[in-house]
Amino acid sequence: MNAPDTGLFCHTAESLPLENSFAGLPEDFYTRLRPTPIRAPYLVGASTSAAELINLDPAEFAHEAFVEAFAGNSTLPGSTPLAAVYSGHQFGVWAGQLGDGRAILLGDVPAGAPSAENPSGRMELQLKGSGLTPYSRMGDGRAVLRSSIREFLCSEAMAALGIPTSRALCVVGTDMLVMRETPETGAVATRMAPTFVRFGSFEHWFYNNRKDELKILADYVIDHFYPALRDATNPYQALLKEVTRRTAELIAQWQAIGFMHGVMNTDNMSILGITIDYGPFGFMEAFDARHICNHSDHQGRYAYQMQPRIGQWNCFALGQALLPLIGEVDDAQAALEIYKPAYDDKLEQLVHAKLGLQSTLPEDGALIDAMFNMMQGSHVDFTLFFRRLGDLKMDDPASDEPLRDLFIDRPAFDAWAVQYRLRLKQENSEDAARRAAMHAVNPKFVLRNYLAQIAIEKAQNKDFSEVAKLLKILERPFDEQPEHEAYANLPPDWASELEVSCSS
Ligand code: AMP
Ligand code: MG
Repeated sequence: MNAPDTGLFCHTAESLPLENSFAGLPEDFYTRLRPTPIRAPYLVGASTSAAELINLDPAEFAHEAFVEAFAGNSTLPGSTPLAAVYSGHQFGVWAGQLGDGRAILLGDVPAGAPSAENPSGRMELQLKGSGLTPYSRMGDGRAVLRSSIREFLCSEAMAALGIPTSRALCVVGTDMLVMRETPETGAVATRMAPTFVRFGSFEHWFYNNRKDELKILADYVIDHFYPALRDATNPYQALLKEVTRRTAELIAQWQAIGFMHGVMNTDNMSILGITIDYGPFGFMEAFDARHICNHSDHQGRYAYQMQPRIGQWNCFALGQALLPLIGEVDDAQAALEIYKPAYDDKLEQLVHAKLGLQSTLPEDGALIDAMFNMMQGSHVDFTLFFRRLGDLKMDDPASDEPLRDLFIDRPAFDAWAVQYRLRLKQENSEDAARRAAMHAVNPKFVLRNYLAQIAIEKAQNKDFSEVAKLLKILERPFDEQPEHEAYANLPPDWASELEVSCSS
């Protein structure tokens, strides 16, 4: 018997009321197929808050049926598993057909009351690393434990930082080895998002000259995820504008937290404007605006300072794909114009909050530019800089010491601090209130590569305690958590040797 779908009831994996709205699209949009089972699956990590979002009882994590289901070894009742087709531009070049090469959509489940953020009120459950699909191309359909843990932890960390993102329910491991540069432990991760439709899903139909399918997809996305746009004069133009606005704001949030995605190809850009497809991502440590987090990105196309421009480039690619529906080039152009003001406004608001400034003055631009210049000059740790800046006291230069210690060029910092204090004085800033406000937006804990690496290496030796511990810490990134002080420290020397690439 199916469990009643009340907000209070906690589901087991098998009682999850799975449907699949994407499967209602014509068959050309996907291929129905089951995940390929993995041998002897075991749970590596699971997120209680992700489970709570879909009313799944976290006690389920301990049950074999849960692990079997999210290993892809058993089929949940109501599940209509499928792999979706899409295309995309990779590193600026048209790559043709791609698709879910190792991801399988199980279906969607209720996830709280419909809201502005999630009008469908549902979450899709998708396995990643669950075997070959017709879109696997040269790949093996699998994912390694290393990249699955990174995606799992980062999804949940980003959500806790308040950045729009897909979520991660769990990671299941297997002793079946997966071949990369070396043989590695394999894994399957379960991701959740209202939809995994991408910019590339639209490009697919546009570049194949299939206007009917393009319209079907746009109508599906509007009806399920942007219902308010249905009544616009030109709903497709309104869709482009809203996706562009959300994308611009998302990237402003990435910049403000120091997040680098690493592979901003159009097939990795969500139609919801949320962060998806975590691969060789990174959080900025020693500040360098030119930093490239993806070792495979030789040109630096997706370097930190490039992200805002690339986000815009991607929106233009989406605009191109939607053009047959929008009609006039000028109308598409008009929708895309929202990008720059949306990005600038959001970034300004976020950076002001990071600095504890309540008002916005024309001169602030110079203060902020000078700040990033001195951060660049001394390659200060991005997260520690903003966190410690919150501890600065107006009339106590000694309060600057921990912050000042981060700088090689201390006179540069001293000169800037004078200007910053003057600016704070101007708005009668009060130390305690400013500190509390700044600490609520400048995290103490982010997923530094070396922290992930330690958790991964332990997990590869079947010790999953560090994955769980790191998740708990990253779920409260703004809290002091003095017992976990070491997790907020500068990375150790060995961390500079770490490289993350597209290999996953
Ligand atoms: P990514 O850049 O990781 O988002 O992947 C780009 C495309 O390659 C997507 O269509 C993926 O599904 C596919 N892909 C990546 N890795 C694999 C793999 N190991 N097996 C099959 N397909 C893959
Ligand atoms: Mg991808």
